[in-house]
Amino acid sequence: MMISGADSLAVNNLRLWKAQDITNFNMKLFTQGQYMQAVKKNMDAETLTKVLYPSDDHMEGKILRLSQQYFLVSASLQNIIVDHLAVYGTLANFADKVAIHINDTHPALVIPELMRIFVDTYSFSWETAWSVVTRSVSYTNHTVLPEALEQWNEDLFKLRLPRIYQLVCEINRRFCADLWNMYPGDWDRISRMSVIANGNVRMANLSVVGSHAVNGVSKLHSEILKETVFHDFYKAYPDRFTNVTNGIAHRRWLCYSNPGLAKLLDDTIGPDYRKNPEMIAEFGKFADDSAVIDELRSIKHRNKERFAKRYLEKNGVSIDTHSLFDVQAKRMHEYKRQLLNVLKIVGLYNEIKANPNGNYKPKTFIFGGKAAPGYYMAKDIIKLICMLGKEIDNDPQVRDKLKVIFVEDYNVSTAEVLMPATDISEQISLAGKEASGTGCMKFMINGAMTIGTLDGANVEMADAVGMENIYIFGLNSREVDELWRSGYNSLLYYKTNQRLRDIIDRIGMGFGGEDFSEMVKYFLYGVSVSDPYMCLADFESYYNTYGDAVCDYENRSLWTRKSLLNIAGAGFFASDRSIREYADNIWHIKKIGHNGK
Ligand SMILES: *Cc1c(COP(=O)(O)O)cnc(C)c1O
Repeated sequence: MMISGADSLAVNNLRLWKAQDITNFNMKLFTQGQYMQAVKKNMDAETLTKVLYPSDDHMEGKILRLSQQYFLVSASLQNIIVDHLAVYGTLANFADKVAIHINDTHPALVIPELMRIFVDTYSFSWETAWSVVTRSVSYTNHTVLPEALEQWNEDLFKLRLPRIYQLVCEINRRFCADLWNMYPGDWDRISRMSVIANGNVRMANLSVVGSHAVNGVSKLHSEILKETVFHDFYKAYPDRFTNVTNGIAHRRWLCYSNPGLAKLLDDTIGPDYRKNPEMIAEFGKFADDSAVIDELRSIKHRNKERFAKRYLEKNGVSIDTHSLFDVQAKRMHEYKRQLLNVLKIVGLYNEIKANPNGNYKPKTFIFGGKAAPGYYMAKDIIKLICMLGKEIDNDPQVRDKLKVIFVEDYNVSTAEVLMPATDISEQISLAGKEASGTGCMKFMINGAMTIGTLDGANVEMADAVGMENIYIFGLNSREVDELWRSGYNSLLYYKTNQRLRDIIDRIGMGFGGEDFSEMVKYFLYGVSVSDPYMCLADFESYYNTYGDAVCDYENRSLWTRKSLLNIAGAGFFASDRSIREYADNIWHIKKIGHNGK
């Protein structure tokens, strides 16, 4: 598939692999009436690439997935080698001309597979092959959640990929021998760093061992990698570790998704930011231009109308476009804390029920997010959100003040309409858990104000925009670690915080005719641990900071000024910058100039 750059001479080929049976369809079986048997071989082959596994925060040890990974890796490497030989006629300069990037550990099998091709097919010595592999390969880590780190059962791995298993064993044998020289007698360290241990093949360790560069996806995440999951590797190979903060395609998430805002930028700072996103900073000069502020505010309103119109067409539900749009759109996961947002909404609900005649500014809470099919807790959270919405819809005291929506089938197309319509972006993961996040950046470049923890890229967003233009709350990652080590007790917060107690008790009463007492148990009386992502510890700070944000929203020109400064500060988070950093610092490739050279 040809992928061209925006107004550039560069065109890349994206290879999309598909497995098919290469033998002919069995006509003999078909004429004998064995229709299923006749097509079975092809069906078996196609199964290999039928689905991409949908969970990105949990490891699934399915043999089909391992087979799929190997298939995609091997096809890609064979293609790279054929192309390279066609141009250079030799593999001697392979490491100088080829960069292979392991984007998360899913393609980590490139390391042993490239060794197999060099050693078995092209008769390289082990040492030469290993030198070429490690100079070609680099690795980006995407998570520190232990349950997401890819590990394969050694027996399954050996059975499915026998030659690759032999090569991984030899890679590991030599690696551990080197470690023994570096750290004589330090068995603990060597077993922590080993690629194979306790009957598992650890793909993250394999990726670090076989790469010349390893990076995390935000400053905080890259530091956490060096301090925790890859601490031993960092001590042994400090120069290998680096950071590349993620970015987003601003031509999609701003120019295409928000044409109104893109036009305002064209009219104020000129169109060059489309190719050079860091020029969006120029927009900051208009922070005190009331005509620009007014136009920015009306663009936001038109985007809210655009979203509300589509939502009404699809779901028959209308949304008050004059309400505050508070959006949490991201994969469903406990660490992302959709539940903390729910606690807040129930808190606001309780306030209205206690004082129905108070002065409340209407708010619409919009959730969007998919979950892995087997993630049971995610379904319970979605149910809670939907039933809370239903309860409110049926309550005439509350329904004009609060509305809760769960957008079904949340995907990129939905996001493109939702993000430009957002007033408040919820980035409230437990500090230390979100590697980077990119949703946060899409909201920011569309002028949403962020309420968030000091997690992932939020930290750098706060640096870019200043603490007065972002709503930061809660524990930082160091405080989270300390609280966890000292023995986290969620019940303490329940007992000492009246508002929080009322909220959890209200959840215990159920919503929309459904029982949520299991959710109360989750927060307070968990089997091994209660409230594992510390919603209760961060609640008070979140609720108060949210109150500040809502208060600021009342002063609409002040709010819109902050929104403008967020847009102006978002240029750094365009992927043009991330990709340039990979090209310059890791792949060592130059960009194609205007003359195509
Ligand atoms: C950007 C994006 C994400 C990632 O969102 P985070 O908030 O960074 O987790 C997930 N889903 C879709 C459809 C997106 O566009």
